[in-house]
Amino acid sequence: MKEFNINTFVRKNIMALQPYISFRDQNEFNAPVMLDANECPFGEFNRYPDSAQKKLKEKLAEIKEVSPSQIAIGNGSDELIDLIIKIFCEPKKDAILMMNPSFAMYGFYATVNENAVLKLDLDENFEIVKDDFLKINKEQQAKIFFLCSPNNPTGNSIQDIEFFVQNFDGIVVIDEAYIEFSENNSGIELLNKYPNLIVLQTFSKAWGTAGARVGVAYASEEIIRLINTVKAPYNVNSLSQELIINLLDDKNRLKENVKKILEERTWLEEQFKNIGCIVKVFPTDANFFLIKMNNAPTVYQKMLEQEVLTSQRSPAIPDCIRINVGSREENEKLINVLKEIQP
Ligand SMILES: *Cc1c(COP(=O)(O)O)cnc(C)c1O
Repeated sequence: MKEFNINTFVRKNIMALQPYISFRDQNEFNAPVMLDANECPFGEFNRYPDSAQKKLKEKLAEIKEVSPSQIAIGNGSDELIDLIIKIFCEPKKDAILMMNPSFAMYGFYATVNENAVLKLDLDENFEIVKDDFLKINKEQQAKIFFLCSPNNPTGNSIQDIEFFVQNFDGIVVIDEAYIEFSENNSGIELLNKYPNLIVLQTFSKAWGTAGARVGVAYASEEIIRLINTVKAPYNVNSLSQELIINLLDDKNRLKENVKKILEERTWLEEQFKNIGCIVKVFPTDANFFLIKMNNAPTVYQKMLEQEVLTSQRSPAIPDCIRINVGSREENEKLINVLKEIQP
């Protein structure tokens, strides 16, 4: 087990904070007369949601083979990113570390909280350069390292993740928003060895429920307690909690989604070989491609004119566009539009 004293990393005001626990959620009642929360007595969704998300956590705990006390539920993993920064980073003083390029929201929430954003430039294969990582860890002492794998927007899985968890002197957040599309093991397996680790997953991508806004953090009990303390009590609404609880019972749903998307991914990859304006398709472990184009801004614009929306990555990643795998119908439209664009 890695040596790690969480008390020295948490902001003092957060450490001293008492969580809001609704009276109702602290106790078990059979047929309560509920006159405690000023709700309306009529209607289907008249009651506040379970602030502790108990059923959902129990289901997830069973599936992921962790304890419910190692799980925090967020309004999307986006909310969890925000909360994690607030728990550990003192405004105007602390910094976060992220890969470059990577998911923009780490920098966004750090900036909202007035924290500096240190960037670790990836190499030409979009891998982390270990020496650069060790150097920046030693010299700059960021509080949190956001390690996104498979990485958005590059699509590749980061190699040797444990090395970074082991050698970072602070909290490492492995963002696994796309893990279901890759064959790699989840960082959840490392939780027992690394008390400085947080693993984020989401129902927004492979599960197909981005509209429900449900993300999950897996970590030590201490870290989970802190997340539960700072979160808004009713951060995940009852409709979403119910939806996800039922979804988790539908064992084939995830498998089918992933299977179909991976089949479409393979189909697209084949089609891309015949597209003149494509210079390079980067290897992907996710449900999207990063593609280098001949004159990406023009290609992007021409796709947009045909109402094919993609994600422009120039100039940050020169001449690159990120395109996600859609339904066959959407993918065919994409290919038809790309075929008409002159290289
Ligand atoms: C899409 C995405 C998320 C956001 O997930 P939500 O659960 O919808 O908030 C988080 N991290 C990465 C890297 C993503 O690409």
